[in-house]
Amino acid sequence: MKNSGSCLCGKVSFTVDKILPSIAHCHCTMCQKFHGAAFSTFVEVKLSELHCLTGEGNLQSYRAENGTIRKFCRNCGSSLIFESKYNRQEKTTEIALASFDSISHVVPDAHIYTQTKVDWLVLNNNIPQYLGYRS
Ligand SMILES: [Zn+2]
Ligand SMILES: [Zn+2]
Repeated sequence: MKNSGSCLCGKVSFTVDKILPSIAHCHCTMCQKFHGAAFSTFVEVKLSELHCLTGEGNLQSYRAENGTIRKFCRNCGSSLIFESKYNRQEKTTEIALASFDSISHVVPDAHIYTQTKVDWLVLNNNIPQYLGYRS
């Protein structure tokens, strides 16, 4: 199916109609901790174009002190969704790109929050790097 994805255990699965442009690899410390990885890559989608096929009840929310909300599968722990105040205003949400099953037509175009990039990763692709959010 088009633009389909799931968590690791498969209890939560979804499809999206369309992925919005501007996709960045985020090197902020919150993304690092939440994913247990060097950075996260989320894609933005309209809420009306996100269809949770199964397991929506398995999504657990974590609200950080800065008001952002991260959702993960309570069974397997997979990071799936990120929402900021901006997303709530725009009626969009962000989905972890790596949770999609196959997606080939999407190309991240920036690294953001590289001020906190881990030392053990060398970035050698030629997309722009921003110390904070995109300027
Ligand atoms: Zn799961
Ligand atoms: Zn981040």
